[in-house]
Amino acid sequence: MNMSADAEFDGLVAIVTGGASGIGAAAADRLAAGGAQVAVLDLNPAGTAHFGVECNVADDASVRAAVESVTNRFGRLDIVVNNAGIGAAGDVAANEDDEWTRVLDINVVGVARVTRAALPHLRRSPSAAIVNTCSIAATAGLPQRALYSASKGAVLSLTLAMAADHIREGIRVNCVNPGTVDTPWVARLLSSAADPEAERAALNARQPHGRLVSAEEVAGAIAYLASPRSGSTSGTALAVDGGMQGLRLRPL
Ligand code: NAD
Repeated sequence: MNMSADAEFDGLVAIVTGGASGIGAAAADRLAAGGAQVAVLDLNPAGTAHFGVECNVADDASVRAAVESVTNRFGRLDIVVNNAGIGAAGDVAANEDDEWTRVLDINVVGVARVTRAALPHLRRSPSAAIVNTCSIAATAGLPQRALYSASKGAVLSLTLAMAADHIREGIRVNCVNPGTVDTPWVARLLSSAADPEAERAALNARQPHGRLVSAEEVAGAIAYLASPRSGSTSGTALAVDGGMQGLRLRPL
């Protein structure tokens, strides 16, 4: 296999869920730049430059059909980036059962569903890798993010369990733990503030390195964990947070 960085994914096929926006879009672009054929599975894939497949990770039939359309199109599957996710605000009492079920179904069971559909194909790959987009919320103890934190804690645990289950099959499983990333998601949160520009400046100031993480920086970490360059790495969580986790700081 060619190990040079600019062609490290030549001949490989990747799925990126939630790949039409933000971190997922940057990851899809980064994998394609490295030579991968990339399928974007998203609720709304219309704007993607890659092979877009409409898919709801909360719907098993939708996930199975989407994975099948990718393997029908490209004949193989080597890399899965489980990135689709949604937010939830408030303390533990802020959300009723239906919202807990909805968020966990997308953020946690969505990872399991896509992986379950992908596994038979990944087992045939000589270079299989799964990268889950987790969050510093998994371990930071963020205020006013109880449900979201619980969902990302489960993604971290699932990453470790999947890594143990599948390493003997040659499938590596890792996750990235981003801090606060400059994506449409964060732009939506900022736009609801009374003074979005002042809120953005305050958010920047709360980051150890004085700015938000870029989606491309997270995509670089995802690409590393997806590539043969990390061929002996499985069951890790790579922080991309400006040093926040190392400093035991919280973004809020
Ligand atoms: P985003 O809102 O910009 O993009 C999310 C994408 O996921 C969208 O294209 C959306 O259509 C898609 N999506 C949502 N629900 C889906 C579903 N049920 N099925 C398929 N696709 C679905 O968000 P982002 O900021 O790029 O976040 C992406 C991931 O990164 C999420 O898992 C999020 O939890 C995680 N994350 C984000 C940040 C941040 O600060 N932005 C920090 C840590 C972790």
